[in-house]
Amino acid sequence: MVSFTKRSTFKVDLDYRKIASNEIIVYDIELSEFIHRKVSVLKIHHKEPLLSESDILTIFNAFSKGNITDPKAREDHNRLLITHVSEKKTITSSTCLVCNKPVSDKVKAYCLSNDRFKGKIYCYDHQKIVQK
Ligand SMILES: [Zn+2]
Repeated sequence: MVSFTKRSTFKVDLDYRKIASNEIIVYDIELSEFIHRKVSVLKIHHKEPLLSESDILTIFNAFSKGNITDPKAREDHNRLLITHVSEKKTITSSTCLVCNKPVSDKVKAYCLSNDRFKGKIYCYDHQKIVQK
C-alpha cells in the first residue's frame, strides 16, 4: 500500500485504485481506515497472525534504513520526478502535422514506424493524403 498526502494529485490511472478491497494507492487521510479494514479482513481469514513480532521488526528496520533523510538527496529525487513527468507529457501529446489534432499513442507509433511518413505524425485522415 502506498500513501500520498492529500495535497498531491494521483498521476496514475484511477483504475489502479479500484482493485476491490485491495486498494494499493490511497491518500493519507484514507490510510488508517484502509489499514483497519484490511486488518479486520485478514483476522477473519487467518486465525494466527501472518507475521511474527520479529518479522514486523525486520520489516520496520528495513523501511527505516531505506528512508532517505538527506535533504539534498530528497531534492534530487523530486527534481528527477518532475523531469520525468514533463518528458512523458511531451511524448504523449502528439498531434497531426496537418490538422494539429491529437493522435493516440497507437497512431503515433504507426506513423513513426513507417518510413513513408518520414518521422512525422499524421491523423488517420491525413495519412491517406501522404500516401498519394
Ligand atoms: Zn490530421
